[in-house]
Amino acid sequence: MPFVIRIHQTGGPEVMRWEEIALAEPAPGEVRVRHEAVGLNYIDVYHRSGLYPLQLPSGIGLEAAGVVDAVGSGVSDLSPGDRVAYAGGPVGAYSQVRCLPADRLLKLPDAISFATAAAMMLQGLTSAYLLRRTYRVQTGDAVLIHAAAGGVGLIACQWAKALGATVIGTVSTEAKAALAAAHGCDHVIDYTRENFPRRVREITAGTGVAVVYDGVGKDTFAGSLDSLRTCGMMVSFGNASGPVPPFDPLLLSQKGSLFLTRPTLMHYTAKRDDLLALGAELFDVVGSGKVRIEVHQTYPLAEAATAHRDLEARKHTGSTILLP
Ligand code: NDP
Repeated sequence: MPFVIRIHQTGGPEVMRWEEIALAEPAPGEVRVRHEAVGLNYIDVYHRSGLYPLQLPSGIGLEAAGVVDAVGSGVSDLSPGDRVAYAGGPVGAYSQVRCLPADRLLKLPDAISFATAAAMMLQGLTSAYLLRRTYRVQTGDAVLIHAAAGGVGLIACQWAKALGATVIGTVSTEAKAALAAAHGCDHVIDYTRENFPRRVREITAGTGVAVVYDGVGKDTFAGSLDSLRTCGMMVSFGNASGPVPPFDPLLLSQKGSLFLTRPTLMHYTAKRDDLLALGAELFDVVGSGKVRIEVHQTYPLAEAATAHRDLEARKHTGSTILLP
């Protein structure tokens, strides 16, 4: 009988329970996937804590890679034995095996291992839509990417650099600064010690950046607005430090007719064609070596609580996988 992690209440890492379940058969349109590696993402923390509400009890986790082992009726493009990966709902990726809609899966190129896939699908597809759809990074753009040594950060910085941008990254330690510099950052700012909008102005000769990718939220939001050029794009896509409090839209006018968006991967991949297109772009930059996927932490899936504690304590760099 397979095991899954479920939550019956929201709270700290301890609410995640390792439970045995019956092996389910795939419903029409679904496939069953035996997971080889599961991805850890900050959104898992928001689900567990209750910041992003789930209907309880619930599974948790949005990303994994594995092998199709059963196919429901009406599924024609996947067969048992196919290597697949996914990022996005329905929740429940923290599991040894699960059923999910076939149209949420991407077939994995042979060159991409299960570990790499589980490490890159959610953070890589996120980098893809942020850099290629939300604001299309152009050669010569200066861009600011917060938490540059994190999961999304290391991928997005390399990708932005490959697109010809001048990449400014923020981090909280010297070790993370070195890592960010080795993954595409032209300039690294320690935002726990330096005034980052002031440093951004210095680096950009007073102009400001074309776009800020801000997954940190509460602690960086105001400084991010102050880092933008006139008509720049503020992309607030996460809340690692807490959610951004309400603010007055007049600020966007005062700070230079700024644009603000609060995007999510789910909308950018809701249509199968959009998912396939972003997936192809991701596989391309990884396959060509422009973006290296860094799996820096690996935990047994049963020890997901420890992984959550370490992620929230900012101990992680790059991507993290959980082995079922
Ligand atoms: P990371 O690996 O980037 O981990 C979060 C990082 O945020 C930390 O390592 C830390 O880096 C930084 N941070 C700053 N302040 C805090 C704080 N108070 N507590 C914890 N961490 C803090 O995580 P992910 O790559 O999984 O996700 C990055 C962000 O992107 C998250 O906010 C996530 O929710 C968001 N996201 C949004 C998506 C969307 O579609 N909207 C999709 C995917 C991710 P440092 O120590 O250098 O400050």
